Amino acid sequence: MTAPKLRFAPSPTGFLHIGNARTALFNWLTALKTQGRYLLRLDDTDRDRSKPEYERAIVEDLAWLAIAPHEIVRQSDRLELYAAAAEGLKRKGLLYPSYETPEELDRRRKRQLQRGAPPVYDRAALRLTAEDRSRLEAEGRRPHWRFKLTGQVVSWEDGVRGSSHIDTASLSDPVLIREDGQPLYTFTSVVDDAELGITNVIRGEDHVTNTAVQLEIFAGLGAAPPAFAHHNLLTTASGEGLSKRLGHLSLRGLREAGIEPMAVAALAVLTGTSEALQPVGTMEELAEHFSLDKVSRASAKFDEHELEALNGKLLHKTPYALVADRLIAEGVDAGEAFWLAVRGNCGKLTDAAQWWRIIDAPAQPQIDESDRDFMAEAVATLPREPFGEASWREWTSALKERTGRKGRALFMPLRRALTGLDHGPDMAHLLPLIGRGRALKRLQGEVA
Ligand code: GLU
Repeated sequence: MTAPKLRFAPSPTGFLHIGNARTALFNWLTALKTQGRYLLRLDDTDRDRSKPEYERAIVEDLAWLAIAPHEIVRQSDRLELYAAAAEGLKRKGLLYPSYETPEELDRRRKRQLQRGAPPVYDRAALRLTAEDRSRLEAEGRRPHWRFKLTGQVVSWEDGVRGSSHIDTASLSDPVLIREDGQPLYTFTSVVDDAELGITNVIRGEDHVTNTAVQLEIFAGLGAAPPAFAHHNLLTTASGEGLSKRLGHLSLRGLREAGIEPMAVAALAVLTGTSEALQPVGTMEELAEHFSLDKVSRASAKFDEHELEALNGKLLHKTPYALVADRLIAEGVDAGEAFWLAVRGNCGKLTDAAQWWRIIDAPAQPQIDESDRDFMAEAVATLPREPFGEASWREWTSALKERTGRKGRALFMPLRRALTGLDHGPDMAHLLPLIGRGRALKRLQGEVA
């Protein structure tokens, strides 16, 4: 058995969105689970719409998701291979020149539809004689090249959809090479999958029909096809399809909004399953949750609000080591105890900075006039340093005894004096971070 080899093949014509991440991750997790290799193939044969900045963004966005391709290829570097493969198909009579203009094809389709016939290309070009072709070329027409489908039922065992069949008699012979010589995706993808030894193709179900066509092209090239799996597509919460061009739910946008990459990855992969809202901390853990068998055939709605909720849940259990560098970069060089104290109150990592300010920067204590005496008692009973986990309990027990206060009347004035807020992380954790000196000042109403 050769090791599995998977690929993710985006066109660099826009920023990756959450639906693209789903495809990228299905392949990545499969590679992880099978110790396979992962190829990033940039499908940039559309020269007008492909842009180097999108290409860079794809590489960056994948790295952000912790996808590290073993190999990267660009289709525009491989044109000779496509030309050679096309020559092979021409020699076998499987790739034929056609001269119709888009307008002619359109008229023909409309006539077919009026007659109630399927709008399938009628193969008129196959009936052209050598003289016809010379005449057309003398008129200045350049041919585009169509692949001759067998017109038979193509079957495959789909990794998600099970036993699948498509009758290629219901399809038009696909154009593989445009009249300007540009090879098209349907073809280049097959040449690459064959030449690069791809064993498994996992992609969106918008490619199901392509698979029937591409299986015939593999056969035409005499190449062994990979196994295919087509996953359901994600839609927006309102049910719209996602679009790279419209910039729906782009990975960049989510990153800029402060969403954690593992929250994005987990929801991209698990949306539509019962495990969708579980915080998953690492790619290895996600690989354990992931299986193509769990993927439904219905489209799955991706809800941004769920993403925010999941982001919080994920942060609440994230260990310090995984966020230390980013906290420091945010100016929160506060150590593990701080993170453990505040993570439960962070919906986004950037929220930590706000809690750090309460500890590290002068805070305006909130003290009600009616609590002045209580504050004096609080100052008198504040334990000596060093403060530990138990200091808060010792202090508030002593205060309860001396003042008779309990519950909210006991705790809230202390929180408001020490932090200036009436909500926030557990005071038992905050008190040692605030420290005795600062606490004493704040209890006495000083901005400290
Ligand atoms: N460039 C194609 C796309 O983005 C790749 C499809 C495939 O995986 O073959 O849809």
